[in-house]
Amino acid sequence: MIKIEEKLFQNRYRVDEGHPHIHIINPEVCADNCSAQSCTYVCPAGCYVADEKGDITLTTDGCLECGTCRIICNDHHNVAWEYPRGGHGILFKFG
Ligand code: SF4
Ligand code: SF4
Repeated sequence: MIKIEEKLFQNRYRVDEGHPHIHIINPEVCADNCSAQSCTYVCPAGCYVADEKGDITLTTDGCLECGTCRIICNDHHNVAWEYPRGGHGILFKFG
């Protein structure tokens, strides 16, 4: 099976360094109050990763801007989400 990283490599990104367009509002809510941690398995790009303590690491570099994580976090509304600034983020080659 083709790995997700290999698929993502087929997309082109211009990462907006220092301006992540998504962030977790309160990391403690993820670790302490969110048992489902749905973001860690719904993100098609695997941007959300939980460690053994339940802390979430969000890496937005591969983000496809689908918006799923913002919607799935509807119990806690703990994801702040905006589109990357113009010219950044995913550049659809075949889109
Ligand atoms: S679903 Fe929301 S609150 Fe739960 S771990 Fe993910 S970002 Fe945190
Ligand atoms: S917008 Fe989509 S691809 Fe980006 S982090 Fe959220 S779920 Fe993952």
